[in-house]
Amino acid sequence: MAKLYFRYGAMNSGKSTALLQAAYNYEERGQHVLLAKPTIDTKEADHVSSRLGMSREVDFLIGPDASLRTLFAMHRERARAAAAETLLPDAGEAADVACLLIDEAQFLTREQVDDLLRIVVMDRVPVLAYGIRTDFRTEAFPGSRRLMELAHSLEELKTICRCGRKAVFNARLVGGRFVFDGDQVAIDELTPQRVTYESMCAECYLSESGGRLG
Ligand SMILES: [Zn+2]
Repeated sequence: MAKLYFRYGAMNSGKSTALLQAAYNYEERGQHVLLAKPTIDTKEADHVSSRLGMSREVDFLIGPDASLRTLFAMHRERARAAAAETLLPDAGEAADVACLLIDEAQFLTREQVDDLLRIVVMDRVPVLAYGIRTDFRTEAFPGSRRLMELAHSLEELKTICRCGRKAVFNARLVGGRFVFDGDQVAIDELTPQRVTYESMCAECYLSESGGRLG
């Protein structure tokens, strides 16, 4: 049975690396996968890029108003048609898409995550979604909240805080200083100073925020 998997973690927990590895594992077995991500992420907009230097273009981008199930069906059909062209006559059916992989899944809308469950259960294609659980104020992203509610399988990807404990939060720095107010997604053009993030354990986060959460 196909399943919806949500693999989540703080920033820098290797989500994109894990996604690219999963895609590679499928393809090594001769199976076809589709890679997709929401359009909201501005850096390397149409690529999945790992910090280890690997990068790969996505098969499709998901706009904020897009019907994810319709988009997927279209690209699934396109992939099937492309596979059929390479087949010899009478070689049987062209290979179907074995898996849908989603990067930056925290930026999906609630409706789009609902569609992921429909793709898994009604269209019978497994979905691996990778994303950040919470924003810099420790609030769940809408996509991540819905994935926590719907996924068949939850797996935490771990990374380490500066103190050596497991990091669970993502503190935001603007121009090198911690900030605890602002929009969920920092828009580069509106912020003259550089926005960066540090993955932290609860203890270090609360120490920097003076006890504040959200
Ligand atoms: Zn810490």
